[in-house]
Amino acid sequence: MAMRRRTLLKVIVLGDSGVGKTSLMNQYVHKKFSQQYKATIGADFVTKELQIDDRLVTLQIWDTAGQERFQSLGIAFYRGADCCVLVYDVNVMKSFDTLDNWHEEFLKQVCWNIHTFLFLLRRGSEANPADPKTFPFILLGNKIDIDGGNSRVVSEKKAREWCASKGNIPYFETSAKEDYNVDAAFFCIGKTALANEPEQDIYFQGIPEAVSETEQRGGCAC
Ligand code: GDP
Ligand code: MG
Repeated sequence: MAMRRRTLLKVIVLGDSGVGKTSLMNQYVHKKFSQQYKATIGADFVTKELQIDDRLVTLQIWDTAGQERFQSLGIAFYRGADCCVLVYDVNVMKSFDTLDNWHEEFLKQVCWNIHTFLFLLRRGSEANPADPKTFPFILLGNKIDIDGGNSRVVSEKKAREWCASKGNIPYFETSAKEDYNVDAAFFCIGKTALANEPEQDIYFQGIPEAVSETEQRGGCAC
């Protein structure tokens, strides 16, 4: 019989407030949608199990409030992330324009962690850490249902060009309201996170010591 391993994958969902991050997660995990807007406070996660090929994986999906500053989310929030999901609203240009910031800020956090990891590795193993520049992202263009698509201001072409410019990030157009493409998007997120997971197994080891040592040396140089 084939051996089955249960794997926990950490996924972080980022994007401006109001783009539908919480709604997408609710639709995916609970199959529910609410018109009511309730601001997410701080960061929280939900979990969902899914089968990917012969692996049973648990997605641990971290939700955030869009207005939250990166620094205030803290290093622990990003630690061990296997995939980062960026969300914008196809009807709001600003939510698309800020994607660059979310992408950059996330990489900064991961980069800091990778340097910490490298520092650790120099003392022992020869294994190669993941390159922060190739960290897996996925982009979701949400709320495509609104006004039958007549009020959208960001074209699919423009979004795909952005994805191409960032190293071919997978792109999905979704509607949390109509449950359109939500399962497909999260399946891709799971697959991408799983592909990134082996490095993270190594990377988890001994991080607490490294944090204080790197801090003493003045932090990340990237
Ligand atoms: P968050 O701040 O990114 O977590 O956004 P929320 O999930 O709280 O959603 C903000 C508002 O947009 C809420 O009123 C939701 O009901 C609404 N919303 C979210 N996704 C969709 C969608 O796909 N279509 C439509 N029409 N409304 C949505
Ligand atoms: Mg929210």
